[in-house]
Amino acid sequence: MLTSGIAPMASRTIAPWRQVMMLLALLPHLFLSAPAVVVARQWQCLWPGQAPDDAGCLSWRVMVEANNARGWRTVPAQCVGYVNGYMTRGQYQRDLAGVMEQASAYADEIAADADADGLDAWVFDIDDTCLSNLLYYEAKQFGAYDPSAFKAWASREACPGIRPVLGLFTTLLDKGFKVFLLSGRDEETLGSCTAANLEAEGFSGYERLIMRTPEYRGQSSSIFKSAIRRQLVDEGYRIRGNVGDQWSDLQGDSAGDRVFKIPNPMYFVP
Ligand SMILES: [Mg+2]
Repeated sequence: MLTSGIAPMASRTIAPWRQVMMLLALLPHLFLSAPAVVVARQWQCLWPGQAPDDAGCLSWRVMVEANNARGWRTVPAQCVGYVNGYMTRGQYQRDLAGVMEQASAYADEIAADADADGLDAWVFDIDDTCLSNLLYYEAKQFGAYDPSAFKAWASREACPGIRPVLGLFTTLLDKGFKVFLLSGRDEETLGSCTAANLEAEGFSGYERLIMRTPEYRGQSSSIFKSAIRRQLVDEGYRIRGNVGDQWSDLQGDSAGDRVFKIPNPMYFVP
């Protein structure tokens, strides 16, 4: 039996005038929260893959990464904002981390059976593999390749190192692999600044930096890199892994036992 003098909640009644006062007190909250919801929805729409308008650009990016879209000269105009969002708001970093995780697991696996002859090798591309050109391409609105502007950018030796790739690079050196850096950059004009940029960003201890010499000028990256990899194999190296942001880094002759494609929806190199 209840002995308290307080009546149960269900049995209480609220006077009509009090109901009106409570409703009036709630109204400002209702109006204030509405813009917050709108802002949250707008913010959500900025993320790649979230907005309905981005769906076509997401499909396009998947085609690029799967090497189904080839020979394109610029990011499609309607996808410039999408690519910028992909590269700068976290998804690129998450995808890159996934690739590095796979490469590291593979390196762990093969390190155990690597020969002691010092001929187990990895090949790394440089642009947008070891060094980032995101700032340059962002400023260019992901437009067409411009050789003189790119040369001016690369000459500044200011390309930021891509930290997760540096992590893999260092791990491989620690495990005793020989690492070759192979770049389509012109050796004569960009050789010394590329070496200095790499050094400043922590990429040191590699076996050899190989860049495009006059005999390969005008040839596609795929042909040039295939020829160099063949030479390495002729020297006795076993290419156990190959890391690059373009399919032209990863296909062709002596491509390596496994290849690791770093995402890059900013440009295409044949
Ligand atoms: Mg590259």
